[in-house]
Amino acid sequence: MDMTAEIKPQNKGSKQLFQNPVLEKLSRTHISVPLTIFFVYSSGLLYWSITNTALSLGTTVAMFFVGLLAFTWVEYMVHRYIFHISTHTEARAKFQYTAHGVHHEFPKDKSRLAMPPVLSITISTLLLLLLRLVLGDLVFSFLPGFLTGYAAYLSVHYMVHAFQPPKNFFKVLWVNHGIHHYKNGEGVYGVSSPLWDYVYGTMSK
Ligand SMILES: [Zn+2]
Ligand SMILES: [Zn+2]
Repeated sequence: MDMTAEIKPQNKGSKQLFQNPVLEKLSRTHISVPLTIFFVYSSGLLYWSITNTALSLGTTVAMFFVGLLAFTWVEYMVHRYIFHISTHTEARAKFQYTAHGVHHEFPKDKSRLAMPPVLSITISTLLLLLLRLVLGDLVFSFLPGFLTGYAAYLSVHYMVHAFQPPKNFFKVLWVNHGIHHYKNGEGVYGVSSPLWDYVYGTMSK
């Protein structure tokens, strides 16, 4: 059980997370920054995959989709087990609030809807180096798929909090994330898709 259950979501406002002004500034990101970075990063890797590896176009496309699907699983796991980590110690509570609780308290603060780019670029580059050891050249198409999944997640999450729900099939994404924020913080963890909530039985009835 994490402490988000006790947080009352505020319709307006924001919160200072760090005393240090540099850290505070880094904790706020305009959504266009990570989207641009990951578009360029993924395009670069795909270009490398096509021009510098012996992989066929079919393999490249297939690995891209494997990466995309892998991201949806990581999104679910990170949200469920890291962002909603149980907060029985003060250090955990502080980490949980900084990483995610603040978003539950101020869900409409648009400057805190994406991880700081410095952090996401570092993680992506570590992933590139680590996955290279496991996947070899496949990493150059797997990672673009994975990062595209991340960009899709960011876009969906941003739209869900910034805009009114559309009157079509995508409305379900607004409804699901609304349940997670306002009704049941211990379920409906998927943002970009409800797939893993169905798999792991955390979809609200
Ligand atoms: Zn959450
Ligand atoms: Zn949210």
